[in-house]
Amino acid sequence: MSRLVMKFGGTSVADLERIRRVARLVNAEVLAGHQVAVVVSAMSGKTNELVAWTDGSGAAAAGLPPSDDEYDVVVASGEQVTAGLLAMTLRNMGVSARSWMGWQIPIIADDAHGRARIDDISPEKLGGAMDAGEVAVIAGFQGVTRDGRIATLGRGGSDTSAVAIAAALGAPCDIYTDVDGVYTTDPRIESKARKLARISYEEMLEMASLGAKVLQTRSVELAMAYKVPLRVLSSFVEPGEAPGQGTIVCDEEDIVEKRIVSGVAYSRDEAKISLFGLPDHPGVSSAIFGALADANVNVDMIVQSKARTADTANMEFTVGKRDAQRAVEIVRAAQPQIGFLDIAVNDDVAKVSVIGVGMRSHTGVAKSMFQALAEKGVNIQVISTSEIKISVLIDAAYTELAVRALHAAYGLDQL
Ligand code: ADP
Ligand code: ASP
Ligand code: MG
Repeated sequence: MSRLVMKFGGTSVADLERIRRVARLVNAEVLAGHQVAVVVSAMSGKTNELVAWTDGSGAAAAGLPPSDDEYDVVVASGEQVTAGLLAMTLRNMGVSARSWMGWQIPIIADDAHGRARIDDISPEKLGGAMDAGEVAVIAGFQGVTRDGRIATLGRGGSDTSAVAIAAALGAPCDIYTDVDGVYTTDPRIESKARKLARISYEEMLEMASLGAKVLQTRSVELAMAYKVPLRVLSSFVEPGEAPGQGTIVCDEEDIVEKRIVSGVAYSRDEAKISLFGLPDHPGVSSAIFGALADANVNVDMIVQSKARTADTANMEFTVGKRDAQRAVEIVRAAQPQIGFLDIAVNDDVAKVSVIGVGMRSHTGVAKSMFQALAEKGVNIQVISTSEIKISVLIDAAYTELAVRALHAAYGLDQL
């Protein structure tokens, strides 16, 4: 019998009525002859509430490091509730099922609490239960460290749980969510966004890492590395209703229709740090970014330019919003060695990106981007490019305008 992993996100399990619908969708796959493992998220809003208990102002965790292991004990609990509720609902429908927490499988994760990575999954117990005809209902987002502590996989991490389980079981993975596939851009921002029938792993990886939260970045990395057949589809259908094909995430070679640009993504999660009056000599960048790397601060875009004064330069770079204050403190502490004049931070910025494998072979993609933004009067603060994407940093107030302008400029509303 073939195995199948189904994953349902927060909106899809938001209340008991929706959980019943999920159970019907699972049952339909069981009746179709599949051995099913279902991965569930916490009910929508639950994880935010739990996070607020632990690191909101004045909350229990005030003053503790962000990697505190008890943070994970609290925030992982939302998935335990939905796993139990879905297993109960399936049993009520006469479907044999049981819940599994990350530690019961086990899903072994590293100890980077709050953003842990899965190291290993032992699928034997889980596979055995599935072979015996039981649906495995798995709490997403959580694993266990080698010394027995609960670790969570970062926001959106249930996608990664699902793909990792699918890889371990040798099964395809269907991600059910509140949209019926991957779109050319976030359909919440651009109503003209079009659903993509297929997208390559590589493009999906860029889309996810540049802000399209429909899949967690790490889940796409895993799917690509282990060749997991991955599909994104809507949970808002009844079994038997045409669910549509959703979007298939696959190898580039399996996509017949070639596009230059496949999508537009945006992220408001970054902050820009500007350093003025840096000495213009070798070793300065190394001192700045070395100090940040030592403190595990991820730097994304970087631009350096000559200042008006001779032998000095200015530098701007972006870091995650959550890390901005810490990054400023780290750079300030290194001021005596580096020797800059001033530092400023701006977190009212957004990164807007266009993504497409066609950029490898086509010129003029950047020109169209800059032209479209200029026509709308959007000022570009920083630019960065890679083989298949171009990103610009802009004032956050223009995010929607920029996304829509770029979506139209590449004809994505007419796909
Ligand atoms: P879940 O709770 O099921 O994990 P998420 O909220 O994490 O769902 O992800 C689904 C959301 O991702 C959609 O509601 C949509 O607003 C957003 N999204 C952003 N970019 C895209 C895109 N390119 N295609 C589809 N959805 C996108
Ligand atoms: N519940 C977790 C979150 O909201 C994990 C997930 O939904 O994927 O981030
Ligand atoms: Mg999600």
